[in-house]
Amino acid sequence: MAIVMAPHNITLAIGLFTACLMPPAALASDVTYVSLSYDDALPSQLTHAVPALDSFGFNASFYLVPTNPGYLNYEKEWATVAANGHELGNHSYTHPCRSSLPGRSWVDKDNDLDSISAEAMKQQIMQTNAALTGLDGQKNRTYTIPCGDILAAGEDYLPLIRDHVLAIKGRTLSSEEEVIVAPSEVSAEALISLITQQPDDVRIINVIFHGVGGDYLAVSNKAHVALLEFLAANREDYVVDTYKNIVEALNTSDAVASY
Ligand SMILES: [Zn+2]
Repeated sequence: MAIVMAPHNITLAIGLFTACLMPPAALASDVTYVSLSYDDALPSQLTHAVPALDSFGFNASFYLVPTNPGYLNYEKEWATVAANGHELGNHSYTHPCRSSLPGRSWVDKDNDLDSISAEAMKQQIMQTNAALTGLDGQKNRTYTIPCGDILAAGEDYLPLIRDHVLAIKGRTLSSEEEVIVAPSEVSAEALISLITQQPDDVRIINVIFHGVGGDYLAVSNKAHVALLEFLAANREDYVVDTYKNIVEALNTSDAVASY
């Protein structure tokens, strides 16, 4: 009996060993993930970005701020955006940024992250989650850091919020493997080159838009659509999805277990 079983066991062992060497890391590294995201709940995103994304069948992440007019006046529209497969992401409740950094004269005194505590930021993230769950019924969502500022009244607030969001934009993989670009006022060619010019090691490209064909820090409709056309023509190289879906796909891979 033992003689009969031995070859079978060896084959099985080799099979498992081969499986460990191949997927999922090898499969995951074949493609580059592209997260198209749209911050601040701007009306031009509803008017221009959403129809363009839907026409190509791409899902994206919209990082909403529940106190912004572009949220308060369009709650029904954002709920529909979520129902069509896009992610409603957390971008804090009032979008505080630090006033003490260069070029921040626009920061309101009442919304200054130099004086808002880390604990208060945690409350903002929880409040925003509750508001967004009311629109999309989802329990998990990702977070984009307003202005990229991580110090709240001098304290890094990110450790306090990690249990309240699925992931933080730009912090799922190492900085060599995950990049953030935030284009505005760029040509179609320049926008596409932000995708094509990335080093081979990069596995997630986060593109952060604000206005699309309107509002501020805008990218033109023409450039935005040209990028979508490029991504649609290169689906074998680039996987476009919500940041939530990308993170969940990578979390099933051993390749990111160490981050
Ligand atoms: Zn923002």
